[in-house]
Amino acid sequence: MTAFDYDLFVIGAGSAGVRASRMAAGLGRRVAVAESRYLGGTCVNVGCVPKKLFVYASEYRQFSHEASGFGVSLDLTNFDWPTLRDRKTAEIERLNGIYRSLLDNSGVKTHWGHGKIIAPNTVQVESEQGTQTYTAEKILLATGGWPALPDISGKEHFVNSNDVFYLKQFPRKVLVVGSGYIAVEFAGIFNGLGAETVIASRSGKLLRGFDDETREFAQQEILKKGIKLVASQPSAITKHNDQYKVTLASGEIIEVDLVFCATGRTPNTQNLGLENTRVEFDSNGFLKTNDHFETSESGVYAMGDLIAGPQLTPVALAEAMTFLRQQYQNDPAPLDYAAIPTAVFSQPNLATVGLTEEQALSQGFDLDVYTSNFKALKHTLSGLDERTFMKLIVDSQTQKVLGAHMVGEHAGEILQGFAVAVKAGLTKSQFDSTIGIHPTSAEEFVTMRTPSRSVTAS
Ligand code: FAD
Ligand code: NDP
Repeated sequence: MTAFDYDLFVIGAGSAGVRASRMAAGLGRRVAVAESRYLGGTCVNVGCVPKKLFVYASEYRQFSHEASGFGVSLDLTNFDWPTLRDRKTAEIERLNGIYRSLLDNSGVKTHWGHGKIIAPNTVQVESEQGTQTYTAEKILLATGGWPALPDISGKEHFVNSNDVFYLKQFPRKVLVVGSGYIAVEFAGIFNGLGAETVIASRSGKLLRGFDDETREFAQQEILKKGIKLVASQPSAITKHNDQYKVTLASGEIIEVDLVFCATGRTPNTQNLGLENTRVEFDSNGFLKTNDHFETSESGVYAMGDLIAGPQLTPVALAEAMTFLRQQYQNDPAPLDYAAIPTAVFSQPNLATVGLTEEQALSQGFDLDVYTSNFKALKHTLSGLDERTFMKLIVDSQTQKVLGAHMVGEHAGEILQGFAVAVKAGLTKSQFDSTIGIHPTSAEEFVTMRTPSRSVTAS
């Protein structure tokens, strides 16, 4: 009989923590999870799910404009923020209940409170009810990330991505600070729901890290929707009644009702007791792990947004599943991080899988690059000047498709299928021999016959 209270103690019941704990319990292990805020973590409560619900809401205004081109008149009725906010919250609470049942029904013991490591194999959980100590053979840290805000004068006036889901009032004018996923997605949400929206991007270029040509195209399309962009960042914010005066580094002053800040996220390691361990960090504050997710402290594991790599829910889930196979199913194979698809739910979407042109060249591939830039059939009548962009990155030598990128309506939905093809290592001729579904935008991915250019690595 083991001397430990649990086989596995998980700190954090988010995407990674819930998956790891309930699957481990399903394999017959004695498992506990500590959670301090909400079941389901960032994705369910203040991330993917409520964000996507807001994205849906923000699309109706454009639909109603498009409709008139088809002879359909839709009422542009007023948008009621409390209805959207509170219906979203009710749905999140429903999901919290489902997560609760998933944990309970799989036999996981949930301890509400803040978890920390106090000694080898020992976790302490602090809550209003008191402090409890538990021992476990393995401890899994899955505490996710937290918004990182610039340290400027008036930074207390920033609204971050946790608070934005619960605003008392919807703003008339908003400054969105940042140029990444969250900034771009929320700029689309604010703009679509009727707020005058300005993005302050320090580089003036959105979505760093995505394929350059694709993100430049996305930026043009996003700005066509009426979002303004200033190439600067706030240096100070002051509050005057209900208005915020934001001084930008460029000297420009912008007055808004809301300053939404999305300048990246930092791993959630505060008060986790890591000083009691030999856990090491990388230069960005992520926990260092090996390909078994084990930190430098034996028996302490970490995954999800706590470790370097794509900060995406399906990645956190895949890490949890890999950990289970490695620990409890005698399968040491590491997780394959190649060709992870992702989408920015901007208007229009940007979605991608595999290598960017820049990555492929830096890895030494000579390339055939196929691009297509067209007006989707719908917009021949809708009156919108939105265009769609698709790009395939093909290894000239093997003709393997290394990457697929798209900006356009439903790009997130479309790229999921093409991700299977890229992950499977299919060649351009296999794409070409696939019959298209007509008339769709997606069919363009299997009908691009002539390379736009060939590029050599050196
Ligand atoms: P989390 O889900 O953050 O879970 C960590 C949990 O640990 C939380 O519940 C937290 O309360 C708890 N916790 C922290 N410290 C302690 C402690 N000491 N004791 C007890 N509990 C603790 N990804 C996508 O794939 N698609 C999207 O569309 C998408 N949209 C996003 C939108 C926004 C606004 C944000 C912020 C993120 C989005 N993400 C999206 C990213 C995704 O949410 C994260 O990658 C994912 O949630 C990471 O999972 P995790 O398990 O590592 O951490
Ligand atoms: P990102 O890492 O995507 O982007 C952060 C942005 O902040 C960068 O554009 C960077 O600008 C800018 N920035 C950083 N520091 C400063 C500063 N001091 N002043 C001004 N700008 C600054 O982070 P997000 O916060 O947008 O999102 C966090 C993560 O969450 C994402 O990386 C993604 O993994 C995940 N996520 C996924 C989503 C999805 O799958 N659809 C949606 C939302 C989030 P610059 O480019 O100039 O360096």
